[in-house]
Amino acid sequence: QESLLAVNGVKKHYHVKAGMFKPDATVKALDGVSFKLEKGKTLAVVGESGCGKSTLARVLTMIETPTAGELCFDGEDILSLGKDAAKALRQKIQIIFQNPYGSLNPRKKVGTILEEPLVINSDMSKAERKQKALAMLAKVGLRPEHYDRYPHMFSGGQRQRIAIARGLMLDPKVVVADEPVSALDVSVQAQVLNLMMDLQDEMGLSYIFISHDLSVVEHIADEVMVMYLGKAVEYASCEELFANPKHPYTQALLSSTPRLDPSHRREKIKLEGELPSPLNPPKGCAFHARCRYANERCDKEQPALVSEANAQVACFAREEGRIA
Ligand code: SF4
Ligand code: MG
Repeated sequence: QESLLAVNGVKKHYHVKAGMFKPDATVKALDGVSFKLEKGKTLAVVGESGCGKSTLARVLTMIETPTAGELCFDGEDILSLGKDAAKALRQKIQIIFQNPYGSLNPRKKVGTILEEPLVINSDMSKAERKQKALAMLAKVGLRPEHYDRYPHMFSGGQRQRIAIARGLMLDPKVVVADEPVSALDVSVQAQVLNLMMDLQDEMGLSYIFISHDLSVVEHIADEVMVMYLGKAVEYASCEELFANPKHPYTQALLSSTPRLDPSHRREKIKLEGELPSPLNPPKGCAFHARCRYANERCDKEQPALVSEANAQVACFAREEGRIA
C-alpha cells in the first residue's frame, strides 16, 4: 500500500562562495532524509535550531527545490511532474508558520487573508469565497464578526487560529506546521494543539509537525524523527521514542524535557557544547563532540540509520551494544 507522502533521500545542499577569510564550502542543510506519512497521522520532526527541520518544511511545501531525492505524494513524484500538475499537487500540502504576528498581513482584514488562496487558486465567486471563509472561521473556533477585523485586534492564540484557517482554505491533505505553538504562552499552546488534533480527525489531515519541544511533540505525534545536522538520527513511533529513547542525542533531549508523569523522570544528561556549524561539519558522526559514548570509530565514520525493534537509529554504540 502506498503512503500518502513518501520522502526518499531528500537533500538540500547550498554552495557558499569563498569569502576573504574562508574557502568555498557546501552547506548540507538536509543530507538524505527519508520518511513516510500515512493519512490522518502526525510525524513530528524534532531537533535544535539549525538541524535542518525548517529547510525540510520549505522543501516539503516546495518553497525550495531539493538538490536530490524524491517527494512522492499519493504515489506521484512531485519533482518529476510538469508545472501545472505540480501546482495542483502543491495545494495539497500547505504550511503553517511559527509566528502568527509576522505571517498575517496587518493591513488586511481576516476575511481577505483567508480568501486570498482561493482568489489565486480557485474559480469560486466572491460569495462562495466568503461562505467558505466564514465556515473555516467557525471550524477554528472564531466568530463571524471576526471576518471584518484586522490581525492586531486578536490575541496570539487567536492569530494562530487564523493562520491555521488560512492554511486549510485550499483543503490540503498534508499540513506542515513549523513550530506552530512555540511563539504562544504555555497556557494557550494546549488549546491550539487540541484544535489541530480536532481538525485532523474532522478533515482527515496528515501533519508534519516541526518542533524543538518534546513535551509538545509527545502530545500530538504518532511518529517522531529526531534530526541532527541535516540527518535523521532516530525515527520511531512516539510511544517507543518516549518510553525507550535509543540515540544518545534523543536521550539527552528527553532528559531535559519536563515530564508530568513522575514515573518517567530520568537522569539529567547535560548536552555539552553547541550544534556544530553546518559550514564546517565534523568528520565522522556529527554528534561525536557532544557524545559521552563516542570512541575513535565515531570520529572517522558516519553511522547510518539501522532498524531495530520499533525504531531506526544511527549510532555505532547502539550497533555495537555499548548502550542499551
Ligand atoms: Fe555517539 Fe558514536 Fe553514537 Fe555518534 S555514533 S551518537 S558519537 S556513540
Ligand atoms: Mg526553525
